[in-house]
Amino acid sequence: MEYIETIVNNQRAFFQNGNTVDYTFRKDRLEKLREMLKKHESKIYMALKKDLNKSKHETLTTELAFLYSEIDVAIKNLRFWMAAEKVPSPITHKGSRSYIMKEPYGVVLVISPWNYPLQLALAPVIGAIAAGNCVIIKPSEHAKATSMLLADIVEGAFDSSYLTVVEGGQEVSTELLKQHFDSIFFTGSSEVGKIVMRAASEHLTPVTLELGGKSPAIVDEDANINLAAKRIVWGKFTNAGQTCVAPDYVYVHESVKFKLLKAMKKHVKSFYGKDPLKNGDYTKIINEKHFNRLEAFLTEGTVLHGGNSDRESLMIEPTILDKITWENSVMKEEIFGPILPVLSFTNIEDTLYKIRKMEKPLALYYFGDNEKMQQQVMEYVSFGGGSINDTLYHLANPHLPFGGVGSSGMGAYHGKHTFDTFSHKKGILKQTTKFDLPFRYPGSKLAETVV
Ligand code: NAD
Repeated sequence: MEYIETIVNNQRAFFQNGNTVDYTFRKDRLEKLREMLKKHESKIYMALKKDLNKSKHETLTTELAFLYSEIDVAIKNLRFWMAAEKVPSPITHKGSRSYIMKEPYGVVLVISPWNYPLQLALAPVIGAIAAGNCVIIKPSEHAKATSMLLADIVEGAFDSSYLTVVEGGQEVSTELLKQHFDSIFFTGSSEVGKIVMRAASEHLTPVTLELGGKSPAIVDEDANINLAAKRIVWGKFTNAGQTCVAPDYVYVHESVKFKLLKAMKKHVKSFYGKDPLKNGDYTKIINEKHFNRLEAFLTEGTVLHGGNSDRESLMIEPTILDKITWENSVMKEEIFGPILPVLSFTNIEDTLYKIRKMEKPLALYYFGDNEKMQQQVMEYVSFGGGSINDTLYHLANPHLPFGGVGSSGMGAYHGKHTFDTFSHKKGILKQTTKFDLPFRYPGSKLAETVV
């Protein structure tokens, strides 16, 4: 694994030479990244089809369009983001000026998962480039076709001393984590997140951890039930539920449960047809290990809709489970698949209290019309980020920070937040030499008065 050390050393030398400082250099590289994606779009569609059976529509909306939008926002705002930020100075600092400089960390490592294998590998890179860093990407070995393609197209477009892909699984990741990076950006499970943080502590490297959790969708009695059902079904079954912010389960007010279930069944049929296992555009489960894990959940509670699976194609129907309790194993871990348990409540306060006592989720979705209640839910429960009367959409707004809290992660990105994640904020005070206020010096009268 000596090559890993060599890559890191080369990138460090490239960074130390000051190559990435320049605005034009960074802008050019962002444009190059855009060009690279555009040029290889058809190969990208094929790779994602192979890894996850992703449809062109889904690859475009959830991977490519997202990246194009992030690149455009970065290019448009780069000068402004890079500029030193003036801040006031207190009266005691009369004569001085204060400002915050944004300094690149240096050589950064991005480790990504398999579920949105292109988007989650490159979205952090956009901000890392904008902030003036060199980057090593370690994509997931489970989305092999995308990982290979990414390595290939990045090699064709960039100098490896600046941006490169190191492919491989756990062993490669472990080896990378032994190196001294200036920042590590990890997206994946909470278990591996802990391993990453432990390794980073050896070099006191700052980490951003984008993890998972059980994100609830709460449907209150005054919600627009049809829209709630449609948006929950879309958020849950996009990518066959293999989305970190997918609604993991639904908590619905008992009085509207029947109506919601009926509407959800209608929307599943309208999105995926009568036989989703035969729908060529429906995403498959990434591998047999996850297929087996998910299939075991199908025996829990009552299957209200779906429930069939096909081992050969690794597909599981969009499934709605009723009669589920917190004792079922489907409620004990992040589902990360197309299985949606529905629980009901009669008292929203008790429900919120229950959610508050659990690990902090990455997302929370509240469906209800009452603005006071909307505010109360948002304030009372701690979670990474979320939406009122929608699912997933908050993460597609580049102006909103995206990240977890507690066990769902630390740090945030998207838009300027990614730039900030990969920048050290250096506080500078520029003092005047025209005069020198005496009060801070020993023996000054004012100093004695203050004490
Ligand atoms: P994972 O943690 O198994 O793997 C993520 C990355 O870590 C991969 O590149 C993998 O090769 C590497 N890795 C695995 N084991 C390692 C080890 N022992 N040491 C070092 N590196 C190791 O996660 P996954 O299965 O690829 O993805 C699913 C998880 O990711 C879910 O929990 C999901 O919620 C989470 N996720 C979070 C976000 C987010 O933005 N917060 C996005 C997508 C997925």
